[in-house]
Amino acid sequence: MQIIKSCSALNSINFQKPFAFVPTMGNLHEGHLSLVKFAKENYSEVITSIFVNPLQFGKNEDFASYPKTLDKDIQLLEDLDCNYLFLPEPNFAENLEVIKPNFSDVLCGLSRPTHFDGVLTIIDKFLRLIKPNACLFGLKDYQQQLIIKDYVNKKKLRTEIISLPIVRENSGLAMSSRNNYLSKDDREHCGIIYSCIQNAAESLKTSPVKIVIEKATDFLENAGFEIDYLEVIDANNLSLITKKTNKILIAVAVIYKKVRLIDNIIVSL
Ligand code: AMP
Repeated sequence: MQIIKSCSALNSINFQKPFAFVPTMGNLHEGHLSLVKFAKENYSEVITSIFVNPLQFGKNEDFASYPKTLDKDIQLLEDLDCNYLFLPEPNFAENLEVIKPNFSDVLCGLSRPTHFDGVLTIIDKFLRLIKPNACLFGLKDYQQQLIIKDYVNKKKLRTEIISLPIVRENSGLAMSSRNNYLSKDDREHCGIIYSCIQNAAESLKTSPVKIVIEKATDFLENAGFEIDYLEVIDANNLSLITKKTNKILIAVAVIYKKVRLIDNIIVSL
């Protein structure tokens, strides 16, 4: 695997097409690796990036303490035969014009008001610089991939945005670098976030949305979670469900022992 440490080095690479790009913030786990594996299986070459993007962290968030495990990440990518690893310089996020996305005034956008501006601003820079045939994202960050798809369509960028399934721990907890902040027992307990939204998806067949939300909220609160949001909305536009809705998103963000965890499930109608 070739490690690229500057934009100028990147510019001199002649990628074998079609090639796929997997942007990450490192501290790689099976969720990230599922994207790299998919890319290896479906494209001629794969470039992964590791960059802890300061623009997407709020003032009181964990930018400074975000887990960094570069040597281990390199080994994991080598094992998957990833072709390139891009490690942008620290000033990569400097002097950029901030891009304001659609769909950012709900869900995570409410409690993290500048988060998606930061994500989109950096993804736009990556896509214009690397110009991959495809860029891969996880459905764990449902709102993120929706925002990026919308932007890429609107700007007619030539990269296809591909979203891949959530990879979970044995307990059902969606894998996340932030799970490292929790003990093994806590992670086991947090598996009930997923059972809760699975039950909610089942209940939607027979109960009104309002009741489903109330029940799920009570369940999680009784299990020791602080709810940031728990929403049942149209998965295509993150708005209220209407008669036209053909895909429902059940999305949840909770805080458990100071750690913010997100998860979601899609119900096709
Ligand atoms: P991050 O390093 O958190 O920015 O994540 C990089 C990419 O990995 C994003 O597209 C995430 O949605 C994706 N990802 C993170 N966790 C998971 C997971 N548990 N399953 C699938 N994809 C994931």
